[in-house]
Amino acid sequence: MDFLAQQVGPLTVAQWIGVVVAIMLIKPVVGFLKGLGGGSGGDNMSAANCLVCGWEGKVSKYHRTCPKCGNQITRMSKGEH
Ligand SMILES: [Zn+2]
Repeated sequence: MDFLAQQVGPLTVAQWIGVVVAIMLIKPVVGFLKGLGGGSGGDNMSAANCLVCGWEGKVSKYHRTCPKCGNQITRMSKGEH
């Protein structure tokens, strides 16, 4: 197959096909990693306020750390008293 050995830019046709296949394989993996980073972060967030500095906002239910002063947040704004 002379066609596959033909030089197109920096790569041969066969190498370009390999690149396209690699991108198709990587794409769903990148999408999966992006999904982990953001988008679905809202599920584990809960409103809270910091007893030390008075910061109010949303923190992860599993990591109740104040983003402002770094102290442990023990009081959640809603739900528990
Ligand atoms: Zn704080």
